[in-house]
Amino acid sequence: MQEVDVVVLGAGAAGLMCAIEAGRRGRRVVLLDHAERVGKKILISGGGRCNFTNIHCRAENFLSENPHFAKSALARFTPADIIALVEKHGIRYHEKTLGQLFCDRSAMDVVTMLERECAEAGVRVLTGARVASVKRDGKFVVETSAGELRAEAVVVATGGLSIPKMGATGFGYDVARQFGLRVVECRPALVPLVFGGEDAARWCDLTGLSAEVVAAAGVKRRRGSFREKMLVTHRGLSGPAILQVSSYWRAGEVVEIDLAPGVEVFAPLLARNARRDAGAAVMALRTILPGRLAERWVALHEPAGWTNASLEAMEREVHAWRVMPAGTEGYAKAEVTAGGVDTAELDAKKMESRKVPGLYFIGEVVDVTGWLGGYNFQWAWASGVSAGRAV
Ligand code: FAD
Repeated sequence: MQEVDVVVLGAGAAGLMCAIEAGRRGRRVVLLDHAERVGKKILISGGGRCNFTNIHCRAENFLSENPHFAKSALARFTPADIIALVEKHGIRYHEKTLGQLFCDRSAMDVVTMLERECAEAGVRVLTGARVASVKRDGKFVVETSAGELRAEAVVVATGGLSIPKMGATGFGYDVARQFGLRVVECRPALVPLVFGGEDAARWCDLTGLSAEVVAAAGVKRRRGSFREKMLVTHRGLSGPAILQVSSYWRAGEVVEIDLAPGVEVFAPLLARNARRDAGAAVMALRTILPGRLAERWVALHEPAGWTNASLEAMEREVHAWRVMPAGTEGYAKAEVTAGGVDTAELDAKKMESRKVPGLYFIGEVVDVTGWLGGYNFQWAWASGVSAGRAV
């Protein structure tokens, strides 16, 4: 049995950052992962360029049963801090859109940066090490395929359920439950939505068409609205606007889509002597939407008569297209997992369990889920640093 100060379970963004911070403080840290290398999700993130932060990051950009919980960690390690680290390693980056920072070259740069920092901080990294169990016997005893470890503190950074083929497991939730911590029900988030039978037949042959829309989903305090691109897929809808609202959506609810934000599409048809028929309506809508999408929308919403009232009704509908998804593409396609270890169980400054001193949870395994656009990595860095300073 090996005795150390801290064992970090999971060498993703959060675990790596936590191990670095604790190692810099002189703690003896073992960071282990069952994958054959560290930071696998970082490598595939942001289309291979890793959207490593968002310069506009605030607690409002996250979903959680407690929307205030993330504030403390986010204030401890800000986008400016990760930018400083990236710059220290000479990594070039750019802002793509909406404050999203991506590597110019490759996500590999971020992983290499974290590996170097781990080495400098004296972190022992064990890859290919499966964790069998975590027990407490005065200290924590972590049984792994690479032997037993004994430590004062265990940090659970095993991520969520998204992309199981990349090694995602529910291990972190199991550890939480084993120690009596509540877990908020998990669900796929930042995930494409799937149409049911009739809608699939109506829209899915338009796969590949996209438009800038305002999509909204959810109710009352849990409502999100985003002006971004929407994409028709062979099974439903995707694109940033839809991925964003998917995190707010629940089964049985509608998604409302403004297909022509800020534009009075059918106003020209209301003019005196204007042509009023399906062709004219399509012409008007084509100025906003791709032609085939405009044609399909008009064909499915054509009124019985082209009166002022029916044109006004069409106008309202084009700004509030109500879609009832049959479901999502699930964890196989979800960028993140919403829900997770209940924040009420954790100290917001340290990320330590209130019930079990020495047991910490960070990153995606916690019930804090960011919007699309670099927010999830910022949460991973920030919660990792908070725990790393406390362990
Ligand atoms: P993870 O990165 O998932 O790390 C968890 C680690 O734990 C993994 O290495 C896993 O192998 C290990 N593990 C799991 N179970 C066990 C076990 N039982 N024993 C040992 N090890 C275990 N977010 C952004 O902010 N920007 C982006 O550009 C972005 N792009 C993304 C693209 C894709 C395709 C996906 C799927 C996600 C993307 N995300 C992005 C989300 C982001 O990757 C995650 O939010 C982030 O990686 C979470 O970090 P984490 O350390 O909590 O978990």
